Amino acid sequence: MQALLHINLRAIVANWQLLCGRHGGGAVAAVLKADAYGLGAVEVARALREAGCRHFFVAHLQEALALRAALGEASAMLAVLNGFMPGAAPADIWPVVNHLDMARAHAGHGPVLLHVDTGMARLGLDLAECAAIPSGLDIRYVMSHLACADEPGHAMNARQAERFAVVAARFPGVATSLANSSGIFLGPGFGSDLARPGAALFGINPQPGQPNPMAPVLLLEAPILQLRHIAAGVAVGYGAGWVAPRPSLIATVAAGYADGYLRALSGHGIGILAGQAVPVVGRVSMDLTAFDVTGVPAALGDMLTLMGPDNSPDMLAERAGTIGYEMLTALGSRYRRIYT
Ligand SMILES: *Cc1c(COP(=O)(O)O)cnc(C)c1O
Repeated sequence: MQALLHINLRAIVANWQLLCGRHGGGAVAAVLKADAYGLGAVEVARALREAGCRHFFVAHLQEALALRAALGEASAMLAVLNGFMPGAAPADIWPVVNHLDMARAHAGHGPVLLHVDTGMARLGLDLAECAAIPSGLDIRYVMSHLACADEPGHAMNARQAERFAVVAARFPGVATSLANSSGIFLGPGFGSDLARPGAALFGINPQPGQPNPMAPVLLLEAPILQLRHIAAGVAVGYGAGWVAPRPSLIATVAAGYADGYLRALSGHGIGILAGQAVPVVGRVSMDLTAFDVTGVPAALGDMLTLMGPDNSPDMLAERAGTIGYEMLTALGSRYRRIYT
């Protein structure tokens, strides 16, 4: 009796195509760091490669090496956001150079992407440092990352676009890369030669507060291990934190916080059973979660939807006080994964 994670590769491809249509610039890459936000980088990369995607980003060199084996050598651009030292990787994996020492180290070696900080103060060279870049650095893209793209009204967006234009002008003839998922929806001024969406590929809403243009990608369901009729006044779970206000039917399912069903969903999560919304009651345990299914048709072994189109990662994230990104990357490895 195992929880199932259904991942719809066709929906991921459709989302990539939608982003290609919306990007006011050139190509659209796929950011597949953290195992494609928990959904399986190898499977996702193969599907997107087949659909025509030719540019992939990951965070770590190890992730790039695994993808290269799956994609076939030199079939696509494979870039490592966190960078690596020269000689650490085959020549067809490109590092993102994030600071001046790394720029010096890679001068005279293979192609790189140059990351310039335009307002996030995380990774990247600042404008002054760009002047000190050695001439032997083979820069294929100059890129930057937006700090506030999910808040279209934030003043930081225009400031970063302006600074990025200044940076790009310093590297004439070099291709540019700017927008993440949300950046693609900021409109003209945020286009570049290569957009870098991640989250929106996986159905996360790139425009929080507005209707989600992305197709849902995943369905997570867990079997009911036990059904229990309890009387009013009976407590459920660790800490006896929830007490039934009336006679209730409690369904305990086979997934918990070790599976990324965040403990912060205790008392806040919503499952779907037989088409009806059912609330999490008591604390989420490591391997188990209890739902109040009073009045809902339920049988042992029935699958209760923990996450799906009607209780999306975004919706649950809001209830847990986090973001959809974290819901996805937390998913864990214990589910049986089914790709369609
Ligand atoms: C993670 C990341 C992205 C993708 O961001 P999303 O918001 O998931 O689209 C793009 N660029 C950089 C530098 C990143 O770290």
